Amino acid sequence: MSVFSPRPEMPAPSTARGIVRAVLLTLPMLLLIAMMMTQGELPKDSLTRAVTAITYALLGAVFFLMVYKKETYKYRAALFTIVAVCFSIAFIANLVEMRGSMAVSRADMLAGETPFCHLVIPMVIIPAAFTRTIIFPGSLLEGFANIASMLILWLGASLALGRGWCSWVCFFGGFDEGFSRLRKKALIKKIAPVWTYLPWAVLLTLALISALTLSPFYCEWLCPFKAVTEFEQITSFKILLQTIIFASLFILLVVILPLLTRRRTQCGLFCPFAAFQSLANKINIFDLRIDTEKCKNCRLCVKDCPTFSLDENSVGRGKTLMSCTKCGKCVDICPQRAVTYHIKGTPVAVGSDTARILFLYPAFIFMSAIGGSMIVSALTRIFKLIATGSMIG
Ligand code: SF4
Ligand code: SF4
Repeated sequence: MSVFSPRPEMPAPSTARGIVRAVLLTLPMLLLIAMMMTQGELPKDSLTRAVTAITYALLGAVFFLMVYKKETYKYRAALFTIVAVCFSIAFIANLVEMRGSMAVSRADMLAGETPFCHLVIPMVIIPAAFTRTIIFPGSLLEGFANIASMLILWLGASLALGRGWCSWVCFFGGFDEGFSRLRKKALIKKIAPVWTYLPWAVLLTLALISALTLSPFYCEWLCPFKAVTEFEQITSFKILLQTIIFASLFILLVVILPLLTRRRTQCGLFCPFAAFQSLANKINIFDLRIDTEKCKNCRLCVKDCPTFSLDENSVGRGKTLMSCTKCGKCVDICPQRAVTYHIKGTPVAVGSDTARILFLYPAFIFMSAIGGSMIVSALTRIFKLIATGSMIG
């Protein structure tokens, strides 16, 4: 079969049997999402009830389509992008309600009045080991996104998904994913492989600087997502400079480069947490495999992997690189259907949907647990805006 032969068909999903299978596989997920979203109690006011119902229907429909169509990437990417946008709407509205603006004062920061962010986890480990304190400001147990709850979430998701975190849980990742999908064709097609080492260099440098200075250096100077969450009140030239750096990095890494390359450049070429999270792939039971006998070496998956997690060598070995975020794109686009989700220690079964479904359950539970509440919160604000002219209050 030539590389350009029609893609081998999966067993036709558009049958009554396919629908029944998808419904049966979706029902347990619907039950789990309902339990997570309501915690056994329906919301009291009608607006929250309505947006909870809309979010529930959206999540259920996305999971059903992933199962029924036997495709992962496009549905996941759409939901992931919606979650990122909703996260920012909800987060910013909450901040404005609490503090009157997106800017946080140094006094509030020192008092731990900031949510803990997973991006700094690798940079707090060394200082925490030596000083028994977490250098990122935040409350250990109180308030939303406190340090303890974020660490538990990260640990659970890392065990269940490995670096799948970066395509299923991270509420920032949807931004560069969304921008990377806006253009049909990449204007920059080739990126030198050496750039894929940059996140490791950033991680090592920041871990050392943070350990030496006992300060959350990444958060203070380099985080592009400050541009869409909160930043320190501009009271000095230093803070102005930091704010300009945040905004510039966001525009470059999260907007412009993803638009030009159709890749997730913040996640694949810069984010230090992404590099750190690649290590979690080693302790996770799921990976992606390529059947080298079916593969025609067309390099489509290498060119299209959003996070630069495939190269010729890895395809030849039938494996992805350790940075794979389990986004499912290579599985969906391979013209030979040579790529598959896989459970380590089991035979590679290209064409079987079992490993993908088994991965989808934990991945979608984490995505719904984080994303569901953000969508509800953002929709509530949007409906308030329509009804009252203001999102706040
Ligand atoms: S695995 Fe990648 S290189 Fe091989 S046929 Fe599929 S898309 Fe082409
Ligand atoms: S190797 Fe495949 S599943 Fe992994 S990040 Fe790349 S496209 Fe996604």
